[in-house]
Amino acid sequence: MAKINIKDMLTNYDKKNLTIATVCSHSSLQIFNGARKEGFKTLGIAVGEKKKFYDAFPLGRPDEFMMVDDYKEILDRTEELKEKNVIVIPHGSFVEYLGADKFSTLDLPTFGNRNVLMWESDRNKERIWLEGAGLTMPMEIKDPHDIDMPVIVKYHGAKGGRGFFIAKTYEEFQQRIKKGKSFSIQEFVMGTRYYLHYFYSPINDDAYKLSKGSLQLLSMDRRDETTIDEVQRLGSIQELEELGIHPTFVVTGNIPIVIRESLLPKVFKMGEDVVEKSLKLFGGIIGSFCLETVVTEDLEFKVFEISARIVAGTNPYISGSPYSEFIQPDLSTGRRIAQEIKHAAKESQLEEILT
Ligand code: AMP
Repeated sequence: MAKINIKDMLTNYDKKNLTIATVCSHSSLQIFNGARKEGFKTLGIAVGEKKKFYDAFPLGRPDEFMMVDDYKEILDRTEELKEKNVIVIPHGSFVEYLGADKFSTLDLPTFGNRNVLMWESDRNKERIWLEGAGLTMPMEIKDPHDIDMPVIVKYHGAKGGRGFFIAKTYEEFQQRIKKGKSFSIQEFVMGTRYYLHYFYSPINDDAYKLSKGSLQLLSMDRRDETTIDEVQRLGSIQELEELGIHPTFVVTGNIPIVIRESLLPKVFKMGEDVVEKSLKLFGGIIGSFCLETVVTEDLEFKVFEISARIVAGTNPYISGSPYSEFIQPDLSTGRRIAQEIKHAAKESQLEEILT
C-alpha cells in the first residue's frame, strides 16, 4: 500500500484558497453548507443526473461539480483536484463508493486519520479497540449452537443493516442464514438506541480536555430502520414470523433525540476513552465520529459499532442541535469540520488533522 505523505501533498497548496470537496450523497448538503458558512469554496463530485436536485437547495449546493462516470474515476483525476487545492471530506458513502482499499490510498489531502479504517472495518479489531478502551459491547456468540437468547446476526461488509436478522434459537439461525457469507452473532441488546455524534480536535483545547486536544458532543440521533421500527403496526414480531415475515434493519432516515442530562458524563467518558485508546493504537480518531449505543434499563451503555467520520445522523442539525447550541449558534458537524480546517490552515497545523 502506497504511503500517504501529507506534507508532500500540501507543498504546492495555496492554503489561503482551499476548496472543500466531497461526493454528492450522504451528508454532502450539510458539508457544503457548513463550508460555505466558513467562507470556503466547495466542489461536489457527482455521477449522472445526481446533481440536478442540488439546484433546489442553493445554500447546500456546491460552487462547482466534477462529473464522473464512476466514482473510481476520482483516482485518475487527483491532479485536477489538487490544482483547486482540494481537501476531501470523507463520509460513509464516499468510502463505500470508492472502496476502503482505494480510499485509503487516495492521493488527496483527506480530513481525519485514514489509519482508522483498518480498526473500524475489521470487527475483531474494532472490539479490541472499544473493549480495550473500557467500553461494554454486546456479547459475541462464536458458535451458533450456543444461541440461547435473542441475537442479531450481521453479515460482514453489509451496508445500512441490510440482511441482518434476529434469531432466538439455533434452528431459527439455520433457517435464515445465507450460506457462503461471513457473519458475526451478537446478543440482541434490549434498550433504547442513541447514536452519539462527537468531534475530537487534536489542536483545540477549548472543550472537554483530553491528554491531547479536546472533545465536543455535537448532537445525537436515532436511526429509523425499516422494517423493525414499524413492524408493530401489523402485529407482534412473533405473529409475523409465524407468517414468514421477518423484520429487517435497513436505514431509511434519522430522528433527532436528546438523552437524559444525568447520562452526559458517561457519554463524555466513553468518547474520551475511545479517543485516548485511538491515540495509542493508531495516532488518533480525528474529527467527527459516532458511537452507536443501546442504553439498557440499568442505564448502562452497550456500544455495538463505531463510525469514524461524519454520520448521516447529523443531518437533522444543519442549523445546530440542542448540544451544539451551547457551543456556538448555528453549528452543524459540517460547519465544525470547516472550522477545524480553517483554524489549522491559519495556524500551519493542517498536517495534524489531514492524512
Ligand atoms: P450496525 O450495522 O451494527 O449499525 O447495525 C444495524 C442496526 O441493527 C442498528 O442500527 C441497530 O438498530 C441494530 N443493532 C445492531 N447491533 C445490535 C445489538 N447488539 N442489539 C440490538 N440491536 C442492534
